[in-house]
Amino acid sequence: MSRLPVVAVVGRPNIGKSTLVNRIIGRRAAVVEEMPGVTRDRREFRADWAGREFVLIDTGGWQASGDELHAHITAQAEAAMAAADVVLFVVDATTELSDDDVGVARMLKHADQPVLVAANKVDNQLLESDAAALWGTGLGEPHPISALHGRGVGDLLDHLVTLFPDTPLEEIEDERPKLAIVGRPNVGKSTLLNRLLGEERVLVSAKPGTTRDPIDVGVEIDGNEYLMIDTAGIRRAPKIGESADFFAVMRAREVLQSADVALLLIDGLDGATQQDQRIAEEAERAGVALIVLLNKWDAADADEREWASDSVTDRLGFVGWAPVLRISALTGSRVHRLGKTIEGVLERRRLRIPTGQLNRMIRDWTAAHPPPVRRGRRPKVLYAVQAGTSPPTVVLFVSGGELGDDYLRFIERRLRESFDFTGVPVHVVARRRSSR
Ligand code: GDP
Repeated sequence: MSRLPVVAVVGRPNIGKSTLVNRIIGRRAAVVEEMPGVTRDRREFRADWAGREFVLIDTGGWQASGDELHAHITAQAEAAMAAADVVLFVVDATTELSDDDVGVARMLKHADQPVLVAANKVDNQLLESDAAALWGTGLGEPHPISALHGRGVGDLLDHLVTLFPDTPLEEIEDERPKLAIVGRPNVGKSTLLNRLLGEERVLVSAKPGTTRDPIDVGVEIDGNEYLMIDTAGIRRAPKIGESADFFAVMRAREVLQSADVALLLIDGLDGATQQDQRIAEEAERAGVALIVLLNKWDAADADEREWASDSVTDRLGFVGWAPVLRISALTGSRVHRLGKTIEGVLERRRLRIPTGQLNRMIRDWTAAHPPPVRRGRRPKVLYAVQAGTSPPTVVLFVSGGELGDDYLRFIERRLRESFDFTGVPVHVVARRRSSR
């Protein structure tokens, strides 16, 4: 599979990036799918010029000031350098280069990919000479443009498409296991994320794809590399209001689609709630490995600890196979156990049961506990295969009557007794097969 060239648009806020993006895409794709309460850190659009299709990433959209702004711009430039084939660096021709502009330019000088400078707000000829003053980026000749009026944008795009690689671009498949931190608002997701990122080397790698792609960040835990997915979603989740809990479940449903391991963070002071239950259900359904983290353990007294532990047994009994760690994201206490636990669940998620062994076991179990008669017919399990791993999925081929969910759960329990599936959902499904 080849992919389209990716162009990242980088620049300070209010510099006209969005106007430029809208001009390039002709406003066609300007309506972006947005979840309630989320502001995406970046937006992606399909665009084309002179018959060349490409993906345009608008990295802007954030509101910040001071140091925070500086950090954002730096992260944005890093992400663009990691993900793009060409970087489009937008500066304001009507003002001097700011410190941030100069900082970004310095970083982009080390970029492997070509960088094109657009000097925006050149609304007339007179200003074009000002634009020349922006040679100071050291990134070559700035293209004077007016994103607002469209002036110079055609020339810019003519140049841009010549910078695309000639050879078909390989789809980049990230091998790193994908982690997702999920949980209700205020349980400490950002705190845990920061702890994991802060202690280890951080790699920003924004992966090009569709507009729905979240920002994924590389994180190293105990020397193993992972991709923490949708870190933007963690930071931008609404903290209050009626949409907050709804958002938590929606976000979980979305990110778990692409995760390998869910870290379900629960407030150790509140215990597991109905919302946590729903998120755990999403994890099981999505087939991702699940680790339950009872957070804020530092602040919980003996009663609260007991209450929290009981609530996990009560509410999350249906995922009783998930390991439970009692941690403090704030102090870092026992967070170091996470690495080993993650590696363990990932390994078990890949477990494959030999078909012969599986069928011998299923035969014994069904002989000792035949599936009950349903609607007047007794189902018979003919044979079984493990159709897949990650998550382990066992298919029972059945003739006669139907196998009920209870019976599928019974088989799952037996499988768990025979193999260590700690932290891993095991899917057992039935398929009808006529017996000949
Ligand atoms: P998020 O909404 O899930 O991302 O939650 P935050 O990370 O923003 O944390 C919400 C609040 O809980 C903040 O005031 C944190 O300082 C606090 N908090 C997070 N983790 C811990 C912890 O382990 N112990 C204690 N005592 N407080 C914590």
